[in-house]
Amino acid sequence: MNMNTRNKDKAVVIFSGGQDSTTCLLWALDRYKEVEAVSFDYGQRHKKELECAKEITDKLNVKWHVLDMSLLNQLAPNSLTRSDIDVDETAPTDAPPNSVVDGRNMLFITFAAVYAKQKGITDLITGVSQSDFSGYPDCRDVFIKSLNATLNLAMDYTFCIETPLMWIDKAQTWKLADDLGGLDLVKDMTLTCYNGIKGDGCGNCPSCKLRRAGYDEFVARYKTN
Ligand code: ZN
Repeated sequence: MNMNTRNKDKAVVIFSGGQDSTTCLLWALDRYKEVEAVSFDYGQRHKKELECAKEITDKLNVKWHVLDMSLLNQLAPNSLTRSDIDVDETAPTDAPPNSVVDGRNMLFITFAAVYAKQKGITDLITGVSQSDFSGYPDCRDVFIKSLNATLNLAMDYTFCIETPLMWIDKAQTWKLADDLGGLDLVKDMTLTCYNGIKGDGCGNCPSCKLRRAGYDEFVARYKTN
C-alpha cells in the first residue's frame, strides 16, 4: 500500500469550540467533502469548552473526537487548567499571558497528525494566527512550516497544515465567519471567555475584551456605510 495516498477530500480540524477554530471548521466545511474535528481534554478549568465543542459539531453534523491530553496539565500547570491560579488580567499585553502552556499548539497539531494519518487524511486545519500571536511562539507561520516538515519526516507522509487565519486580524476573522454564513453561530455558540461564559462572555477578561474589540472593528469596517 502506498503510504502517501492522498485524500484531499478530507480534513481534520483542530477544534476548541472557540471563535477561531469554529471559523476554521466553517472554512473546512466549505472546502472539503468530509471534515472531522478533534478536541483535547487537558483538564481545562472550564469543561464548558468541550461542551461548546460538542454542541457546535452536533449542529454542523461534524464527526467529533476528544483526545485525552491530561498530561499537559501535569507538565505545565497554569491559570487555564488550575483553578487555584487566577488569570492575570493586568499583565502587559505584549508578553505571553500567564494562561500560556508551552508548546501546546505543537502537541495538539502533532497528535491530530497521528490521528489523521490513521484515517488516510493529510490536511490539518488550525486556527493559529501570526497577526494575533500575542507571544505564543508556536502560532507563528515559521513554526507551522517547520512542524509540517518535521511531521512529514517523522511519519513518512505528506501532511498539509492549513492556517486560514494566519495573516488576518480579529475583525477579518469575524468577516470570514460572516462570509461563510456562520456569523450568528460563531457569535452565539463559541466560548473564548476565561470565565467560561459562552457567546459574548463576561465582558471583563482579556479574552472577552479582545473578542469585543475585534467584533466592533468588524462592524465598523465592514457593516457600516
Ligand atoms: Zn470573559
